[in-house]
Amino acid sequence: MNDIVKITIDGEAIQAVKGETILEAAMRHGIEIPNLCYNKKVSHTAACRLCVVKIDGRPNTFPSCTIPVEEGMSITAFDEDLEKVRRMVLDMTLSNHNDDCISCTKDGSCELQDLAFRYSLGKKERKLPPIWEELHKHTDISANVLKYNASKCIQCQRCVKACKEVQGKGHLSFVNRGIDTTVGTGYKQWRDSDCDGCGECIQICPVGAITEKQIYSDVKRIRNKDIEKTCVTTCPYCGVGCQLDIAVKKMHTDKGVKDSIIKVSGTEQGPNFGKTCVKGRFGLDFITRDDRLKKPLIRKEGNLVEVEWDEAICYAAGKLSEIKSKHGANSIAGLSSARCTNEENYLFQKFIRSVIGTNNVDHCARLCHASTVAGLATTLGSGAMTNSIAEVEHAKVILVTGSNTTETHPVIATLIKRAVMFNGAKLIVVDPREIELAKYATLWLRQKSGTDVAWINTIMNVIIEEGLENKEFIDSQTENYEAMKKIVATYKPEKYEKITGIPAEKIRQAARLYATAEGNQGSIIYSMGITQHSNGTDNVKSLANLAMLTGNIGKENSGVNPLRGQNNVQGACDMGALPNVYPGYQKVLDNAAQSKFEAAWKTKLSPDLGLTIVEIMNAACKGDVKALYVMGENPIISDPNTNHVKEAIESLDFFICQDIFLTETAQLADVVFPATSFAEKEGTFTNTERRILPIANIVDHPGEARDDWRIIQSLAQGLGKFWNYASIKDIMDEINTVTPQYGGITYDRIQNGERLQWPCPTPAHAGTVYLHKDKFVRGKGLFSAVEHTPSAELPDNEYPFVLMTGRILFHYHTGTMTRKTKSLPKYVKDGYVEMSSADVEALGVKNGDMVNVSSRRGSIDIRVVDTGKKLRKGDVFIPFHFAEAAANKLTNDVIDPIAKIPELKVCACKITKIK
Ligand code: SF4
Repeated sequence: MNDIVKITIDGEAIQAVKGETILEAAMRHGIEIPNLCYNKKVSHTAACRLCVVKIDGRPNTFPSCTIPVEEGMSITAFDEDLEKVRRMVLDMTLSNHNDDCISCTKDGSCELQDLAFRYSLGKKERKLPPIWEELHKHTDISANVLKYNASKCIQCQRCVKACKEVQGKGHLSFVNRGIDTTVGTGYKQWRDSDCDGCGECIQICPVGAITEKQIYSDVKRIRNKDIEKTCVTTCPYCGVGCQLDIAVKKMHTDKGVKDSIIKVSGTEQGPNFGKTCVKGRFGLDFITRDDRLKKPLIRKEGNLVEVEWDEAICYAAGKLSEIKSKHGANSIAGLSSARCTNEENYLFQKFIRSVIGTNNVDHCARLCHASTVAGLATTLGSGAMTNSIAEVEHAKVILVTGSNTTETHPVIATLIKRAVMFNGAKLIVVDPREIELAKYATLWLRQKSGTDVAWINTIMNVIIEEGLENKEFIDSQTENYEAMKKIVATYKPEKYEKITGIPAEKIRQAARLYATAEGNQGSIIYSMGITQHSNGTDNVKSLANLAMLTGNIGKENSGVNPLRGQNNVQGACDMGALPNVYPGYQKVLDNAAQSKFEAAWKTKLSPDLGLTIVEIMNAACKGDVKALYVMGENPIISDPNTNHVKEAIESLDFFICQDIFLTETAQLADVVFPATSFAEKEGTFTNTERRILPIANIVDHPGEARDDWRIIQSLAQGLGKFWNYASIKDIMDEINTVTPQYGGITYDRIQNGERLQWPCPTPAHAGTVYLHKDKFVRGKGLFSAVEHTPSAELPDNEYPFVLMTGRILFHYHTGTMTRKTKSLPKYVKDGYVEMSSADVEALGVKNGDMVNVSSRRGSIDIRVVDTGKKLRKGDVFIPFHFAEAAANKLTNDVIDPIAKIPELKVCACKITKIK
């Protein structure tokens, strides 16, 4: 109760909370003190002066948004004087505001309009003349996704503050002076600035000054009050799992009246608390494309032709049955999908295991975090992010490595920036590229790609040598420390400078910083720069070593946190879409687990491990895998050495593809099943922090497209199995019974708004915010004695460059969705290779010139982007989204022997000028 402060407002006794302002206390008690510049997400400004109050015993008036409550305060919020002041202030604000409400998209949801109405300040009642016309000249419609109408801007500063304080960017400020003051980016036009279209300013603008460009429908102007319903759903792009409010309106189309998405905002709840990136807010219009698949297709006389569902299912089931009887179940394989729901992934792996009779099921986690699953499961007992997204903002030291978080997990990047900017966190970035986060870092260590075990071992060497290890934690909670220590003792930073490229002194500074994180609140954040190596599992084990050595794990705001790439890659793994584990990571080789699933699914299961993605492709080339069923993946673009993948697919006797578009991969299929997108079905995704999040059926299916789970069920029925799931609930009920981590995450709890994090074993369990509290999931944390091994393919005279691949903010994975949106290609249209200025000059080319990049596996022509010194001489980077300049034609499919993840982050290549 010490936090409670008793105050009175206009004679009414209320309880306020220490630290809150008078305005906040009043709002909590339903006392509506007028305000315009206040928003709980940004620091208090007192710009609008509408919230002024009187405080007994103090002279003058005070903006209630900036004055904290004090015990016994007696406040006057409403009297004649205050209301007179407010009318005057509002009059001034309105004189500077183009109140053409009839044509304003904010009509009905404008906070200024509400106050003008409340104070009866119609045009006739105002005393001050309009002076806003002059401001029109500063209006800026140049940005790709938003418009700034300077004549409507009330200069409340919310947008300026939100850009800096919420998003950690600071692209907006006030420009010009006096009557000409407006919000701007500091550039002549908005489009020239670094604004990346996250839309935070739109969401926080109280009036119609910053509004979205209409990309979701052909109707040019839509007001908030036109919205007929709003659905909360989960973003279909990255693993952050942002919750989105999707506004829907019935629209007349050539096919009649249909629900259409008209606007997307961030939901003011976790994990994103209102934030989104440009993809989540402006990149969902792909669902309405005319080229969506709408009918099943079968290849006839070389061409894919539309057929009825019955024919497609019968044909596919017949072919699978024929191949199984002729060549055995292991001649068939399936690729499940990190884009699809948990329920669909569960059914897909069940189909491959119990209907086909093989464990040949895998998905793209193999290409991103297979080494995380293997490495963390071995060392800690669970292969998932140990802590929650929200905790990142409160860590005292954050070590980011192998993650260009700003581009790949934009909303998490905002938390890292906020931790540094407002909470005093120290940031260590270890990355071969000078990524954007390096600007916020206390230390940026530029390692040579593929030397992660070496630099992590040198950091641990310093920690042990300087006595900074957490002895108590090591003794009580871990095992195998001495073996690890012995190896690490040989990793003197000076000795490894040449190998890692990191000066020894920087290693020492980083070691001290991370090891001495206050309260052991040191958080490691990593992603595919760590995992996509032929020693990816060792890299992950090394990071686990580092966390255990310092005790920066098993506590709030700490841990080892792999950022999962795709929206449901965590869930697809959890659901057992992997060749070695059933749902819940229960091992295929464990007899008890096999018996459990045989009993649950009422069928015999294969006791043998299945093949991974790369192994499936190799087996197809050899003729051992004859049929492949791919759901929601595009391996022709996403997998390494795509010429080999194409050869594998072309070697198959039978190939089924199930997708929302006729992707590069689907074009090769014998049967194509049209599936529904995230906005056309129900189900759940599991985000990177192990949180199960629902998606909503917002709009109708295009044509005859069906939900993936219904297609899988039809195929199972076609193969003689009596599957009879009537709804998502039926599937989730089954998941609850066979998957211990999901035992308590029931359909009803999800529908009731609970957003639980696994493990959640029972319906009474509240879920787990962070893992390994007091004890590791495996019992004792296991130190691994890991040695540095060089990457499989190092540069040489013939192929002198090191190629790294990855994602960028404006596109996603193989571009199947993002490249089909209206707004995202306006930021980046096509592929490019990033090079250092030194290499660009040496090659005799310039920014924008075309070059040829080739490796031992393939060759592409691609545009050059000169990044100055952001890349080390000899390193190049290509985003892998672009089919016409497909980076994966070049990449190496050599795999990590444990996790079988390919080495996508190091491949030797050469670059030649195109004459
Ligand atoms: Fe959030 Fe990721 Fe979607 Fe962006 S892409 S809105 S960060 S979930």
